[in-house]
Amino acid sequence: MSNPPTDPDDSPAADEEPAGNTPTVSCSRCGRTWALDYELDSLYAGNQAFEQFALDHERHTGHFPDGVTPWVVDCQQCPDGERFLDEKPARRWAETHARHTRHAVTLSHPETETVVEPDAEAIKSAQTVESDSEE
Ligand SMILES: [Zn+2]
Ligand SMILES: [Zn+2]
Repeated sequence: MSNPPTDPDDSPAADEEPAGNTPTVSCSRCGRTWALDYELDSLYAGNQAFEQFALDHERHTGHFPDGVTPWVVDCQQCPDGERFLDEKPARRWAETHARHTRHAVTLSHPETETVVEPDAEAIKSAQTVESDSEE
């Protein structure tokens, strides 16, 4: 009976044959490369597995792996902020934060930077009948 102790943080690649189509992620800050088989096993397909890994990596290490450029939302008035892999959820966070707190939020990505002003939301809700049915 051979049951070598496996470190969950360690790549299991030694035992399992590399399928060849298992996507990998590397991080130059950590100096490591990971196979995404764990994420794929957790029913995240393709790009979603990569995103899930990137989010988990950021959550546990404070930085994103290589090849990931997050959208950064940063409130100008309070310490609140977040990082997202896509513009859509980032913009949504900024708009929601501005809406609820009336804070201006900076939404930035290497090529672009936007400030989401709470006033824009105020104008919008002044024109339309206040409805909270969505979001
Ligand atoms: Zn890392
Ligand atoms: Zn704020």
